[in-house]
Amino acid sequence: MKKKNNNIHRAADVILKSNFTTAYTGAGISVESGIPPFRGEGGLWTKYDPNLLDIDHFIKDPLRAWKLIKEIFYNYFGSAKPNKAHLVLADMEQRGFLGRTITQNIDNLHQEAGCKNVFDFHGNSKRLVCLSCHACYPVSDVNLDHLPPTCRQCGGLLKPDFVFFGESIPQIPLTAAYEAAKISDVFLIIGTTGEVMPANQFPLIAKENGATIIEVNLHESNYTSAVTDIFLQGKATEMMELLAEVLFTPSLDNN
Ligand code: NAD
Repeated sequence: MKKKNNNIHRAADVILKSNFTTAYTGAGISVESGIPPFRGEGGLWTKYDPNLLDIDHFIKDPLRAWKLIKEIFYNYFGSAKPNKAHLVLADMEQRGFLGRTITQNIDNLHQEAGCKNVFDFHGNSKRLVCLSCHACYPVSDVNLDHLPPTCRQCGGLLKPDFVFFGESIPQIPLTAAYEAAKISDVFLIIGTTGEVMPANQFPLIAKENGATIIEVNLHESNYTSAVTDIFLQGKATEMMELLAEVLFTPSLDNN
């Protein structure tokens, strides 16, 4: 417990002294909002076939793919709400302690928590994109009772605007992540194993560029022994609340 508290104070101290802190988040931050990770115990891929999110399979049989996508991403996760960890990050951003959030998640929960400077590295499930004319629609404007959904402008097939297996990373978040890894002096990793390429490279690049790496995770990840300087082991909500208590409470020690 004493070590945990020491680490919270060390983490708060480097964030307070930082010129630019980036949060880098993965599926673990949304687990306490009720969205399971993909891998590991209770993960989505223990129940569903990952081919569901393969772009070739989607194009070959969009009706079949859409039935499952709707069940998982819209019926099941659709009502998830931001948790304390998302809210603390939004509060940090508003108070000037957080410059940018790069998320691998597609759930839009950082934005719903109030974070403004968010880059969705793998896209966002709350938008649908037309595969023919590239028009974008908020999912709330599309009737998912009729599958597969089609574009109002050209009749083309709509797809969730997140990155499927076999698709490339959109240029804007890719550039934003590279830039963040170059300019940040603190990288705050929350709830990611570091398995997914190329997203997993950014903490390593940040470290090479001299950033202090703070990591929040229930378990050690690929980063913990490789690059992490301060490991906050525990649930994202608990660790971020403890961090906020120190960060947001003015004290002589923090000046
Ligand atoms: P991952 O599934 O590989 O790993 C999740 C990590 O979170 C693990 O290291 C685990 O120990 C940790 N974790 C679990 N519960 C936690 C908690 N309560 N507090 C803190 N840490 C916790 O996740 P990943 O590395 O992000 O890779 C999965 C890929 O799948 C991502 O690229 C993402 O696009 C996608 N994904 C997104 C969502 C979402 O949008 N919420 C959900 C599942 C998967």
